[in-house]
Amino acid sequence: MSNNPLPNKERAKLPRQRMPEQDAQVRAGNFLEVNTGFTSDQAHQESIRCIECNKPGCVTKCPVSVDVRAVMDFIVKGDYLGAAAKVREDNALPAITGRVCPVEDQCESGCVLGKKGEPIGIAYLERFVADWERSSGQFGLPKSKPATGKKVAIVGSGPAGLACAGDLIQMGHQVHVFEALHELGGVLVYGIPEFRLPKDIVAFEIETLRKRGVVFETNVVVGKTVTIDELRQEEGFDSVFIGTGAGLPRFLNVPGEHFNGIYSANEFLTRVNLMRAYRFPEFDEPLYPCRDRDVVVIGGGNTAMDAVRSALRLGAKSASILYRRTETEMPARVEEVHHAHDEGVHFEMLVNPVEFLGDEKGNLTAVRCSRQQLGEPDDSGRRSPVPIPGSEFVHACQVAVIAAGTTANPLIQSTTPGLKTTKRGYIEANEQLATSKPGVFAGGDIVTGGATVILAMGAGRTAAKAINEYLMGPTVETVQITTEAATA
Ligand SMILES: Cc1cc2nc3c(=O)[nH]c(=O)nc-3n(C[C@H](O)[C@H](O)[C@H](O)COP(=O)(O)OP(=O)(O)OC[C@H]3O[C@@H](n4cnc5c(N)ncnc54)[C@H](O)[C@@H]3O)c2cc1C
Repeated sequence: MSNNPLPNKERAKLPRQRMPEQDAQVRAGNFLEVNTGFTSDQAHQESIRCIECNKPGCVTKCPVSVDVRAVMDFIVKGDYLGAAAKVREDNALPAITGRVCPVEDQCESGCVLGKKGEPIGIAYLERFVADWERSSGQFGLPKSKPATGKKVAIVGSGPAGLACAGDLIQMGHQVHVFEALHELGGVLVYGIPEFRLPKDIVAFEIETLRKRGVVFETNVVVGKTVTIDELRQEEGFDSVFIGTGAGLPRFLNVPGEHFNGIYSANEFLTRVNLMRAYRFPEFDEPLYPCRDRDVVVIGGGNTAMDAVRSALRLGAKSASILYRRTETEMPARVEEVHHAHDEGVHFEMLVNPVEFLGDEKGNLTAVRCSRQQLGEPDDSGRRSPVPIPGSEFVHACQVAVIAAGTTANPLIQSTTPGLKTTKRGYIEANEQLATSKPGVFAGGDIVTGGATVILAMGAGRTAAKAINEYLMGPTVETVQITTEAATA
């Protein structure tokens, strides 16, 4: 029975609660979190807006099918720990997804209230209950099943690897995560900046997994330090999950891309996040300084927004997004674009860089761009940019960050005989995420290409289930290898 005190008609009339945030001018000068989180009163007000649909679209639109309706009911009755436990049944990292999920395309797009007004703030509530749970210190570690004696290696500690590790340890297997970098968390720590996802939240989730028995080893580049076959044959792992993401940056391939001051977004954000440029002057700023310089960021996704907003916080004189389509086609989360506008980021739409210009010392001085108009839709369904003849102009800048997408790093694929890959270099896997090599599974961005945190987590969980079946029960199907397509 519902705990909601209001009749349905009244609930739909209630306004959506606004997420409190740091003032835009203040936050543009610091790396503290922008959104400061709901109060319990706000959480209550927001949860009682839920009209408890019989067929909740929010659940079907969530890639891991969180039972949002049941979670709302726990919040309505003030049982926040119960709500957090309910979310965790389907989502192992709620404090993270509650901050970074592109909800406008997922759960909130399925909320019936969104048809006439504003959907329930599902992510804001998910974040609220997860933060409540963390600060209460009453986080219950789920009990693992009896030890099976089976050992699983997980390659990569991003959301796919972490979600897979969480499920496998619960199933009673030994789990060992190998990470190439010196810090754990994948894009959650090296890509997404502190002002969107504080690092202590990711560290807390990792510590929880460690307490549950997951072993983490950093600075191990699988494919170089040890191969997948060695893990299986020499190190005694019964199965392997590859969750190595898609971290290889794409460049524009235009003249002048070598000038000092030009970075791929991955390098720029890694320097900001992992090398702690965001804590300047406490840490030496390992960047060609942004301070008092004009910074341009080329791209329109979350990565571009993170880079340009970081540049602003590092003291840039101006921070601009150059994007070849319009804001409507931008893949970035709506909230990030909105925040970037408020903080003073300049948006230059329908422009495409054609050349970078530099001085005699090799330092970047400007980017030459051509203006675009939108033509026919391309494979992505978005209208393609078409250059307008004679429209070229020069935009002065001393730092440029290229956020034109990423692709798969080929290291593991090229050192693992028999591991089948797609034409674009991603690992091929079937629905259960089994690869062409028996006992080797893969999921997350390394299979799908750059996607989202929640989809990577969903993949980790799907793979964990299949690995468990592979180890304990009926053998899951493997992809048939066609020898000419295999990387071996
Ligand atoms: C800057 C940025 C912002 C983003 N913002 C959002 C957002 O707001 N919301 C959202 O939903 N999604 C966002 N995304 C996308 C999301 O972060 C990814 O889809 C997700 O992290 C993919 O998870 P994954 O586990 O597959 O890979 P990753 O997170 O990339 O993790 C892979 C891990 O594997 C490690 N690794 C790679 N090769 C090896 C090897 N050979 N040996 C050992 N370890 C290896 C890497 O170092 C890394 O730690 C963003 C992405 C970026 C880059």
